[in-house]
Amino acid sequence: MEINTQEVERPEEVIQKTHVQTIPVNGSDHVEKQKLVTGIRKAYIRFRIRLRIFLLAYKGYGSLGKTVKVVKELEQLKMKVFGGNAKRKLVQCDNKFYSHIYIPGFPSKAFDGFVESKLAQFFPMKKKTNPLSFIFFAITSKCPLRCEHCFEWDNLNKKETFSLDELKQVVSRYQEEGIAQFHFSGGEPMVRINDLEHLISSANKKSTFWVLTSGFNVTKENAKRLKIARATGIVVSLDHYDAPMHNAFRGFSILLSGLCRQNRKLKK
Ligand code: SF4
Repeated sequence: MEINTQEVERPEEVIQKTHVQTIPVNGSDHVEKQKLVTGIRKAYIRFRIRLRIFLLAYKGYGSLGKTVKVVKELEQLKMKVFGGNAKRKLVQCDNKFYSHIYIPGFPSKAFDGFVESKLAQFFPMKKKTNPLSFIFFAITSKCPLRCEHCFEWDNLNKKETFSLDELKQVVSRYQEEGIAQFHFSGGEPMVRINDLEHLISSANKKSTFWVLTSGFNVTKENAKRLKIARATGIVVSLDHYDAPMHNAFRGFSILLSGLCRQNRKLKK
């Protein structure tokens, strides 16, 4: 494939341009820490989650027999995917409970929408549900890394195709269609930290928002900005426990050691 070199930036240029200014966002700067839920409380929350699923099914089908059948099938699917005896964590953050990265926090509209779309895959509901539970949205083609496994090398670091307003329109359009979860990727989405912050803070909070990143530009300050904008979380790719091996694979020298340092600071 031929690339127009006029429009392609070198990775070093992307790094230089990623020096960002902090832009104040609306909302409190209080950041709640996540807590692991255990014991009786965990059992109680799990019971509430089951009850909510049952009620959503009953509301959607209007028949007790069908509700029991569909909920049973959902349980069987869960057993197949996660295994019968699997011990799964339950984490509380911002008054919501999370058991899996691809399941929105409970209780929330996003959780309800996700459950209804899953139930409707077994039996269609009367109300309209969206068969897509989540979308991956590549918000930029910029990336300063050179990962060995990347299948986007030929398309990286070209001129951006979406302005911030266009990104907002896309998110809003998918929200109208009932998408419960957005996973922002790229390129490297943290290259557009200012736009990400505005995109998430201005979106309707009926969905959850994750940022999938290599760790580039993940500083304590930027993580806090995303949190205040009400991002659900970030997912950082780690390819090796040994920092030099990880960095060699990613083609970027300070990534893993920088993240580990950040982690130590956050723990203090
Ligand atoms: S971080 Fe992602 S987009 Fe960038 S080089 Fe690696 S795999 Fe490709």
